[in-house]
Amino acid sequence: MTGVVCRNCNTWLPPDFTAQCPQCQNSLIWEGEEKNIIDHLEPNCLINRYDGSDLLEPAVLLKCGRTNAKVATKLQEYQKPVSLSKQKVYYFDQQILSSVQALRNERTAAMMRYEQLIQSHWRQLKPYPYH
Ligand SMILES: [Zn+2]
Repeated sequence: MTGVVCRNCNTWLPPDFTAQCPQCQNSLIWEGEEKNIIDHLEPNCLINRYDGSDLLEPAVLLKCGRTNAKVATKLQEYQKPVSLSKQKVYYFDQQILSSVQALRNERTAAMMRYEQLIQSHWRQLKPYPYH
């Protein structure tokens, strides 16, 4: 564990079991039912933040304005959220996420194989015999 987030004010805290949040002065409860720190990401949406990319990332929706949404893709981002257009945020769907990730990996592997195949032909090219 590298750190946790205060559920009250989204401040990033070192994992040293402080009794109080230095930012909002809330008493922190680190274990049990009343736990008010966040120690792992529970994604509730999928985001596609890069134009032209088909990358989906699991994220937590933190805030939503008129045109933009603020999300966290890791705990550190609760304090410094990623801001993106609301249209780039989708309902969380583990099955679609897994399928897209698997296909993206397959595509990467296939592209590398094609590169190697093309290279193997290129290596057989002979220089033009100018005379
Ligand atoms: Zn706090």
